[in-house]
Amino acid sequence: MRQAFKGRTKMVRETGFYDLLGVSPKASPDEIKKAYRKLALKYHPDKNPNEGERFKLISQAYEVLSDAKKRDLYDQGGEQAIKEGGMAGEGSSPMDIFNMFFGGGGRTQRERRGKNVVHQLGVTLEEMYNGATRKLGLQKNVICEKCDGYGGKKGTLQKCSTCKGRGVQIQVHQIGPGMIQQVQSVCSDCQGQGESFSAKDRCKKCDGQKVERKKKILEVHIEKGMKDSQKIPFHGEGDQEPGLEPGDVLIVLDQKEHSVFQRQENNLFMKMDIKLVEALCGFRKTIQTLDDRTLVITSHPGQVVKHNDVRCVQGEGMPVYKEPYEKGLLIIQFQVEFPQNDFLPQSLLPQLERLLPERDDVMLSDDMEEVDLEEMGSDHNQRKSYNSSKPAYNDDDDDEDGPRTQGVQCQTQ
Ligand SMILES: [Zn+2]
Ligand SMILES: [Zn+2]
Repeated sequence: MRQAFKGRTKMVRETGFYDLLGVSPKASPDEIKKAYRKLALKYHPDKNPNEGERFKLISQAYEVLSDAKKRDLYDQGGEQAIKEGGMAGEGSSPMDIFNMFFGGGGRTQRERRGKNVVHQLGVTLEEMYNGATRKLGLQKNVICEKCDGYGGKKGTLQKCSTCKGRGVQIQVHQIGPGMIQQVQSVCSDCQGQGESFSAKDRCKKCDGQKVERKKKILEVHIEKGMKDSQKIPFHGEGDQEPGLEPGDVLIVLDQKEHSVFQRQENNLFMKMDIKLVEALCGFRKTIQTLDDRTLVITSHPGQVVKHNDVRCVQGEGMPVYKEPYEKGLLIIQFQVEFPQNDFLPQSLLPQLERLLPERDDVMLSDDMEEVDLEEMGSDHNQRKSYNSSKPAYNDDDDDEDGPRTQGVQCQTQ
């Protein structure tokens, strides 16, 4: 048995499910959600009919990794453990997982209504701050106007000859000596309807499909303070099907990264570089807001800003959704830039030192060892010189490149 956790690095048995979602085994529940959201929309059969298998695998992976208990089990025992633990998604089809995630209509509702269509819309942080209207062109099924959704000339529907009106075809395969497999599939000639039009009676406009693909422009109103993954529903704008009330179109917002600000709920977070002189003697700096105003911030003489210190500005964060006059905090983390080596002639250093807080005295004695303080080189070089200076018989478990590992490699050759 392999140890599941070693120190603080997470050791997992296999990474297949993580790979499917394109996340690391250390991903947070939020990262897993976001990854599933993107992939599920990309590979949904509506958008990518040829990727049904991929859609299924993504859903399976998400079902396991989104559940803390199943994820633990998977991390320790891999896919095998999930199967043995009876946790392999019984009764949750990829579509159920998808509908649950995006809040599609319930089961009873779905029978009388067409399915919901989900689209992702990339939006900038500026749009979420200021509000915006975006036009989105969607292809959707609408009832054919020419035949009124009937599919052909009224009264000419005939029993399908291919499936004899049953709507399904049964194919028999021999899979071994004396072993026969029956595969039932939806009749391709009548699409499972059991009835079809002869070529001359079929509606020319929709080719008997009863619906047509049409482009529809939706106006998406992005309100101030809306968040990443927030859904904007368009009721009844889903695909039309004869005899069914159309489902909804759900627009899911996908916030793009911003070059300066990171959003943390209603707060905005940014990093700002300041010079050492500014950190010690005060400064004035400007910040360009998301609605293009310029803020001036001041650190007064006498105030010291340390590296990684955090300050905030009230009311300059994101607007609160539905209460746009209320805003969160703008949080600034300062990065102090230190001057380069020899920025001052050595003769002037005592002058600087006199102005700075006094240094601590260090007591030195003869029995202490004087060692060199060096710059850290690249990882590789450090390691090499570290190894070569070590005696060959020195076993060190923590050193992967050490002599013992090399010995093992030699033996297997
Ligand atoms: Zn048929
Ligand atoms: Zn038609």
